[in-house]
Amino acid sequence: MEYYDIKTVCVVGAGNMGHQIALSAALAGYRVNCTDISGEILRKAENFADTYLPERVAKGKISREDAGAARERLSFTGDLATAAREADLVIEAALEKLDLKRNLFAQLDSICPPHTVLATNSSYIVSSKIADATGRPEKVCNMHFFNPALVMKLVEVVRGPHVSEETVCAVMEVCRKMGKTPVLLQKEIYGFLVNRIVAATKNEALHLYDMGIASFEDIDTAVVHALGHPMGPFRLMDLTGIDLTYYIGTERYQETGDPRYKPSPVIVEKFIRKEWGRKTGKGFYDYSDKK
Ligand code: NAD
Repeated sequence: MEYYDIKTVCVVGAGNMGHQIALSAALAGYRVNCTDISGEILRKAENFADTYLPERVAKGKISREDAGAARERLSFTGDLATAAREADLVIEAALEKLDLKRNLFAQLDSICPPHTVLATNSSYIVSSKIADATGRPEKVCNMHFFNPALVMKLVEVVRGPHVSEETVCAVMEVCRKMGKTPVLLQKEIYGFLVNRIVAATKNEALHLYDMGIASFEDIDTAVVHALGHPMGPFRLMDLTGIDLTYYIGTERYQETGDPRYKPSPVIVEKFIRKEWGRKTGKGFYDYSDKK
């Protein structure tokens, strides 16, 4: 096959990010196999597709035929090998844990054909920390979508030192075909562009909150009204997942020993209570009565 001829995409992890990346790819014309270790998450992802597509048709955003065709291209399975066996591109969107990702990439390397590009949607982990778990480091790269992936246009693609030009070009092309706006980082850096900028705001907001300077609602209000952000840092953490904030901080703290990265007391407390944001019905804000 032609190197750039990506037709089949496998999305690993059907959570917050994965289910929408899978649907975006199916809408762009790719055949998509979506997999997760949780049967419940897979069912939710499938239900989401079955609700979202008719809603788009009802709103006149896509035709009934296009919605039907996208749904036909999208399948769900709990078996990684079935999902990845015929993929030209794998987009991994499983938990933000290095060991888990390395393990998954090693498995994917043995399951996928030699031409398959293996991309990670990781928010912070650069692909050079994962690539050597495979026998194809030149085909392992970062492809970082934003939440919600069906809506947000930006994708950060990172040219790690091990990544081939063909891989970068292929992934950028897939982004464009998905209607996204890819930006290319010429070097690897922890957190890429956007999350480094967001983290600076989020950490300061948590610091102000933990010091009792203002309520989280007032800090959000200040950021929205003075800085013009579409949502404040606490509402954003509820959207992206407080568990994710916890994992990212813990992982980085263990790696660097730098206390700046240690999850703040309120994040640890919410993580333990499983108040992870929208996905569990409560985070900083309460979502229990909302759809
Ligand atoms: P999530 O917890 O909502 O979903 C992760 C899914 O991975 C879960 O459903 C889990 O069951 C599944 N999973 C775990 N181990 C697996 C395995 N071995 N095989 C298959 N599935 C497995 O997490 P998320 O928020 O969707 O984040 C996923 C990735 O995307 C992370 O690397 C994160 O950094 C990145 N990311 C998240 C956001 C965000 O806003 N949440 C934005 C951009 C990137």
